[in-house]
Amino acid sequence: MKGHVVVVGAGVVGLTTALQLLLDGIPASQITVVAKDLSADTVSCVAGALWESPPYQMEANPTAVQWCATTLHILTQLSRDHPDAGIHIVPSFTTSGTLLETNVDAKNACTSYIEWETPAAANALLRRAGVPELGDKFRYFQSYDAPVAAMDVYLDWLNAELRRRGVVVRQAEVTDLWARAGPNTVVVNCTGLAAHAYDSNVYPCKGQVVRVHAPWVRAAILDMDSGAYMIPRPNGDLICGGTSENDVWDLTVESHVTEAILRKCTAVLPSIANARVLGVRTGHRPNRRGGVRLEAEASAHGGYVVHNYGHGGSGLCCSWGTAIDASKLVRTSLARMGHGAPRSKL
Ligand SMILES: Cc1cc2nc3c(=O)[nH]c(=O)nc-3n(C[C@H](O)[C@H](O)[C@H](O)COP(=O)(O)OP(=O)(O)OC[C@H]3O[C@@H](n4cnc5c(N)ncnc54)[C@H](O)[C@@H]3O)c2cc1C
Repeated sequence: MKGHVVVVGAGVVGLTTALQLLLDGIPASQITVVAKDLSADTVSCVAGALWESPPYQMEANPTAVQWCATTLHILTQLSRDHPDAGIHIVPSFTTSGTLLETNVDAKNACTSYIEWETPAAANALLRRAGVPELGDKFRYFQSYDAPVAAMDVYLDWLNAELRRRGVVVRQAEVTDLWARAGPNTVVVNCTGLAAHAYDSNVYPCKGQVVRVHAPWVRAAILDMDSGAYMIPRPNGDLICGGTSENDVWDLTVESHVTEAILRKCTAVLPSIANARVLGVRTGHRPNRRGGVRLEAEASAHGGYVVHNYGHGGSGLCCSWGTAIDASKLVRTSLARMGHGAPRSKL
């Protein structure tokens, strides 16, 4: 009998992991994705979705930085090979009025990384990106080319790739992951924040973002002084943020927060002062003390649960890196149950 793999979760982590399982040779007929909320209703669809390293709101250890680097490479390839996937590369500027420490992780990962403290040197770059006023406001800059995902498009693309290759994505709640991991079954736990029910290290970090229309802005901007960030979409929209409120469960959109976000973003980029506001969203980053849980656990019901959750503010940034490691754990678990994959230590 062949083993079966049930991926629980249809956010960016679950879908990427399911696709990686296929790429690693597990037949589509042996993989199912089951999710309580389909992709459009997940926090993944709220994300500003800019690649950065070190990862945000996630324990930054060498493994996590490596996940970011792996993901950078794959997202960059996707932007070239699959223009319909919703990934595009933009110049990303980190700004400050005071000296910025070199971002060693971004510098190691990105050949395009540069830093400067004489704005005149960067004026041409800023003009090309549609944000010339940054040169007057800030003294210190770091810049590199970073992938950004239009998450609605990217999640649709991941779903379509899975369907095209024969994987069924089903809407249902899995009430007991361990019971579902019966003999011959590996459950992959990509449930994000829902894991707080049995893992006390998992907690929410509420974020609110405002979408405006500002097609002239073709760069991502992170202002280290005010915490303002702006992330462009290919359709001319700009995601303005942001907030990070740990342990806040209430997801109500707060109008005073919307005003504060627009105020601090406009202070960085005055050209967006009259940009049309298109919408406001909130979501919970699935934070975890100790970082992502990525390990296999034997279930008392005879199978295995492979955990892949707790990506904090970096679910896109680390998605392919953690998917590759989760897929290795799945194949080892299948092998332990006698299903063909090479035997190795869990
Ligand atoms: C405002 C904001 C900005 C962000 N910006 C960025 C950014 O720029 N870059 C970045 O990388 N990340 C960013 N993030 C973080 C990113 O959104 C998350 O890290 C990522 O979405 C987590 O993905 P996930 O697949 O683990 O979880 P989710 O997207 O929450 O998906 C979890 C899935 O599990 C399913 N599920 C849960 N429990 C069950 C169950 N019992 N049975 C069946 N299904 C279940 C859910 O229904 C859902 O389908 C941001 C987040 C916010 C809120």
